[in-house]
Amino acid sequence: MSYPTPAARGRRSFLKAAGGLAAGLWAGEALEALPQNVNTNSKPSDLRITDLRVVTLRVPASGPIIRIDTNQGIFGYGEVRDGASKNYALELKSRILGENPCNVDRIFRKIKQFGGHARQAGGVCAVEMALWDLAGKAYNVPVYQMLGGKFRDRIRIYADTTESRDPKAFAERLKGRREMGFTWLKMDLGMDMVAQTPNTVTMPSATSLTYGAPVEHMFTGTELTDKGIGMMCDYVAAVREIVGYDVPLSADHFGHIGVNSCIRLGKALTKYNLSWLEDMIPWHNTELLKQITDEVDTPILTGEDIYLKESFEALCKAKAVDMIQPDLESAGGILEVKKIGDMAQEYGVPMVLHCAATPIGAMASVHAAAATENFLVLENHSIDVPYWSDLVNGIEKPIINKGFITVPTAPGLGVTLNEDVAKKYVNGGWFEPTDQWNNIGRPNDRLWS
Ligand SMILES: [Mg+2]
Repeated sequence: MSYPTPAARGRRSFLKAAGGLAAGLWAGEALEALPQNVNTNSKPSDLRITDLRVVTLRVPASGPIIRIDTNQGIFGYGEVRDGASKNYALELKSRILGENPCNVDRIFRKIKQFGGHARQAGGVCAVEMALWDLAGKAYNVPVYQMLGGKFRDRIRIYADTTESRDPKAFAERLKGRREMGFTWLKMDLGMDMVAQTPNTVTMPSATSLTYGAPVEHMFTGTELTDKGIGMMCDYVAAVREIVGYDVPLSADHFGHIGVNSCIRLGKALTKYNLSWLEDMIPWHNTELLKQITDEVDTPILTGEDIYLKESFEALCKAKAVDMIQPDLESAGGILEVKKIGDMAQEYGVPMVLHCAATPIGAMASVHAAAATENFLVLENHSIDVPYWSDLVNGIEKPIINKGFITVPTAPGLGVTLNEDVAKKYVNGGWFEPTDQWNNIGRPNDRLWS
């Protein structure tokens, strides 16, 4: 059986819808009388999932893209977390075939047991995202509308910026970001930048400077010296000198240093008014994070590897963080991020969004950001990828314009893969059949007896 391409289906859907509209007008009907709010080529209550396929693109800082197909020709896109296996999504296929994709929360609750922290959540989040895309297309509304509407029309973006040991060179790059219109900056501030200088870092020999030993930060035996802290402060001072103090500047990737060094460094950095210090230690050490947060007067932030609201709530409730930063592709998807933001707001905690994705995953984050009041800023890793915007159609270009993304108003996520461009970067096949995942035996998914 031949398989119609999404583009062909889209054209047919459009022609059908356009034909229906024209006929109505000729019949003298008022526009309001037409069932415009429902996609007339789709009967949402009869919509069923028929397939889940994957494509992997050679796009830096992105994950596999899934497409969920239905019995009515409409389809939804989702993206697996960057660096995660596509199999996290494929193992869910047999569990969602035959479901009505518009029952997003119902399906999410069915599959959420197959997600875990960090990359393990990639499949669940990709499916959830694709379900929202489908539901939006079926009912002809953008995703943010189904979340309760939007708080803002444009989403503030902060850009990943390539490091340099030379603070002046790095600051010039940040200044370039400001000139592009970015209104929030972030820098990496690792001990690896100073460790080449003697007597800056005290650590057991043969330990990796970037990621430490394969143990958590507290167990690396690595501490900064006053000289090391002084050099890291000098670096930030030189950067601030060039970019100024009026723009928010955040810092990440300190290296795997112990809690006491985190506190000493955090205190020394106070005068540079950084907007947050990110992932100083692993997120699940609630009491140690609280110790750092209590002692340091710069906001402490974590969250890019946390799955589900409960773990974010534990941090907020304990006052262990000043800000949270879920990654939608790990946190549980679009609705879960909205719930996480709303929960954090009740504790007085703002939400930033972590993101390393193609425009598919980025748009999922944009809709969640639009619909969540305590949202501050969304990450983007692709400012320097020239074809990033061209990977999709259906949205105004460039997608990131003067440091903001305009929230799309087209149905669903509001973007469709641009096959002509995306196929140039395909790694492996293009949405090839995945029938081997249709039936994986009769697993007992029961979580209680
Ligand atoms: Mg980070």
